[in-house]
Amino acid sequence: MEAKEYTEMQTLFTEYLTDKKLRKTEERYTILKYICAFPGHFDMCMLHQQLEDGNFHVSKATLYNTLEVLVDAGLIVRHQVNTKVVQYELRLLADTHLHLVCTKCGAIREVRNNILKADLDSLKISRFTPEYYSLYIYGICSKCKYKYKMQKLSK
Ligand SMILES: [Zn+2]
Ligand SMILES: [Zn+2]
Repeated sequence: MEAKEYTEMQTLFTEYLTDKKLRKTEERYTILKYICAFPGHFDMCMLHQQLEDGNFHVSKATLYNTLEVLVDAGLIVRHQVNTKVVQYELRLLADTHLHLVCTKCGAIREVRNNILKADLDSLKISRFTPEYYSLYIYGICSKCKYKYKMQKLSK
């Protein structure tokens, strides 16, 4: 992420926190900083590990709370794949690719498709102003397909 984008994210976050009368804690800004350093999807554990590695200790409860705040602020999006798998990513990145979601294991793969993106970006919808979007295509990943094939063969 460019420095300019990062500054913009901080500004939007400050505006949001002020608006909602939430505390502007150092923790919240540090978590945002670490999230901005992720190039793609991440889950709570990955983020927690990054913070630990950076010697910034924060409880999982605080982390979860901050993620919820950031989702509500529109700075990150939550990908709730199934009841077990939850991933996050920067909203800035979410509409740059399609998400291929495996219905068997919950794995998410990201695929770029410029034609589809151009179509969606030029989409005109009456009485509605689109801000961003996340696209999901559900199916079976190659690993699960392979496993299934092997199971069938062994029967
Ligand atoms: Zn994504
Ligand atoms: Zn799979």
